[in-house]
Amino acid sequence: MPSLSTIATLVGATVISCISGACFAEDRLKIVASFSILGDMVQQVVGEHADVTTIVGPDADAHVYQPSVADARAVADADVIFVNGLGFETWSETLIAESGTDASVHVATQGVKIVKVDGETDPHAWNSLSNGVVYVNNIAAVLSNKIPEKADVIETNRATYANTLMALDTSTKTKLSQLPAEKRTVVTAHDAFGYLADAYDMTFLAPVGIDTDAEPSAQELAVLIDQLKADGAAALFVENITSPALVQQIADETGLTIGGRLFSDALSERGGPATSYLAMFEHNLNTLLTALGSN
Ligand code: ZN
Repeated sequence: MPSLSTIATLVGATVISCISGACFAEDRLKIVASFSILGDMVQQVVGEHADVTTIVGPDADAHVYQPSVADARAVADADVIFVNGLGFETWSETLIAESGTDASVHVATQGVKIVKVDGETDPHAWNSLSNGVVYVNNIAAVLSNKIPEKADVIETNRATYANTLMALDTSTKTKLSQLPAEKRTVVTAHDAFGYLADAYDMTFLAPVGIDTDAEPSAQELAVLIDQLKADGAAALFVENITSPALVQQIADETGLTIGGRLFSDALSERGGPATSYLAMFEHNLNTLLTALGSN
């Protein structure tokens, strides 16, 4: 039997820790993040000092997600909830209201530089790394307030993580700036890369808009295909959260090449190439550079 000093027992969500025979209850903060990319950012900032649950998991589409009973339970039990906002999670307000939770709800995109696509606010703000730093700073400010005894650790984690994101932002700008003008226009299934386009001077065309809940009309698709036949594009890319069929159809009709798969709105499953926000961004960058002949 282990000695008392090594026993830590979970009672509900409360960890009972015993050191040298003295036991104390440690109430761990319960955090819910709406989708996988945001969940990873929260985890990087808070480390082991809270329990993080993510609602929309890897390779899943948060635009059209339908919450489960388990999601409602996680939200009801949460102390803190982070959402992306900007109209990304169309289901989150109802889920939070109906769960009866008394958690505080925080919009991680507060203060980001907004990009509009066809007059609509683009919610995919994480696809520029300078905005990623804004998310991280917002998350750290909330969590330092919620776990003041861990504020020093949270600040160290935040600073290290933000510095890594900023360094990748600088190298991304350098690498993408070397692409010639005719290699700067690419096609994805839905308009998820408006922020990447804006930050790194690229053009992303897409048959589907900033949401994934609508199919393009036959006429809209024909217009895009005609445009691609006339003006060309450097490559087409499928996404991890949408069917590849539409992009395959465009490839068949234009003769343009599919250059790989981009992770737009969700991380990959464990063992995949994009299990964290940083890995996802690096994977997307390398996929673009390889397809555009510059890697
Ligand atoms: Zn999207």
